[in-house]
Amino acid sequence: MKQLLVLGAGTAGTMAVNKLRPHLDDDEWKITVVDSNPEHHYQPGYLFIPFGGYQPDEVVKPKSQLISDGVELVMGEVDIVKPDESQVVLADGTEFEYDQLIIATGTHPRRDQTEGLDSDQYGISIHDFYTLEGATRLAEVLADWPGGRLVTNIVEMPIKCPVAPLEFVFLADAFFTERGIRDKVELVYVTPLDGAFTKPVAAQHLGDMLDQRNIALEADFMTMEADGERNTLVSYDEREIPYDLLVTVPVNMGAEFVDRSGLGDELNHVEVDKHTFLSVDHENIFALGDASNIPTSKAGSVAHFAVDVFIDNFLQHIEGRPMTGQFDGHANCFIESGKGKALLIDFNYDVEPLPGKYPLPGIGPFSLLKETEANHWGKLMFKWTYWNVLLPGRELPLPAQMSMAGKTLARTAP
Ligand SMILES: Cc1cc2nc3c(=O)[nH]c(=O)nc-3n(C[C@H](O)[C@H](O)[C@H](O)COP(=O)(O)OP(=O)(O)OC[C@H]3O[C@@H](n4cnc5c(N)ncnc54)[C@H](O)[C@@H]3O)c2cc1C
Repeated sequence: MKQLLVLGAGTAGTMAVNKLRPHLDDDEWKITVVDSNPEHHYQPGYLFIPFGGYQPDEVVKPKSQLISDGVELVMGEVDIVKPDESQVVLADGTEFEYDQLIIATGTHPRRDQTEGLDSDQYGISIHDFYTLEGATRLAEVLADWPGGRLVTNIVEMPIKCPVAPLEFVFLADAFFTERGIRDKVELVYVTPLDGAFTKPVAAQHLGDMLDQRNIALEADFMTMEADGERNTLVSYDEREIPYDLLVTVPVNMGAEFVDRSGLGDELNHVEVDKHTFLSVDHENIFALGDASNIPTSKAGSVAHFAVDVFIDNFLQHIEGRPMTGQFDGHANCFIESGKGKALLIDFNYDVEPLPGKYPLPGIGPFSLLKETEANHWGKLMFKWTYWNVLLPGRELPLPAQMSMAGKTLARTAP
């Protein structure tokens, strides 16, 4: 019996095992997936929790309900991968041999990587919404916050869902307007990037949206520490940004075993070929989802498109044939902008987000780089689609490769 071992039963790991099981003969391949947390979190839902849009229990389901029959789910913490022995050891000493290994252990916020963020001020003047606990606590704080200077900062890129901090400030603007205290709240958006986003057309558009909402943009800010005594963010080049309430997006890092196993870059993201997800050093190790170092957004949509390309490649690979699928870095993200509207961006390794219509050229129903109600409903519908279509491995009628059809080239940046 051959062994396919998958580390991580989050978005990518769950989709991969559920899609692969029907293609692999039960008598030939055993599939095992290991995860340390019995709960699956719908992480895009964290965004809405601080503003009372979702309750915490609306974004959590038991992993045991989400994994197909015929796949063994093991609860345990991965301690190390020994690539030369094709072996994985868990923290409790359990050992697994594998013929093929998929690492899908994601990336996670690490407050401990920045001076002051892991201090006794966490939960008082310093908050986050990249964890369920953080988002839940922030909801309690924002519900009766009297106003002041709310600073949202990204410590370092890459982070998962790079547009989520922007969505957070757009929703904060709408939330405080609704609460009738917007004039008592100063909103500041602090980023290490040179603008509101990475790519020029989207950066211009999203920067204009910050301006329209009177949200100050502090670009090129490399956070060195949060000084808890003075409630001030300090950068490496000694700029200072005071806050009353800091909502931070800490450094995101892959699992520590990736580093221990000699498989990662400096942020513990597994080094793979960006078109096939095959490890650069090992012929029987792949990394899917946020765990890999592919240079596109770390997002559930990317995990979905990537897994679609991966399945056929994997089946070719185990038969000793060349992998013919080439992932293009396709990402698409709804950007909630408040007051019942959202934008959508669609891009890949080579093409930046451009205006237009998606998925049907000229028709939509979604509009690219434009705030519409349809986009907002698309964002809300995504939760249902995630649990009922994506995770079970059902087909969503969207091509894995990005298409230029429906996109307007006229506004491409020089
Ligand atoms: C606030 C927020 C908003 C977001 N919004 C969007 C959005 O609108 N659209 C979008 O497409 N994406 C969004 N995302 C990103 C999306 O949730 C992730 O990109 C996606 O979940 C990545 O899937 P993954 O399988 O790579 O990792 P995950 O889903 O994080 O799964 C990783 C799994 O590995 C397990 N694990 C980790 N380490 C170990 C270990 N040592 N041993 C055992 N198990 C381990 C974890 O328990 C987890 O189950 C958002 C994320 C956040 C935080």
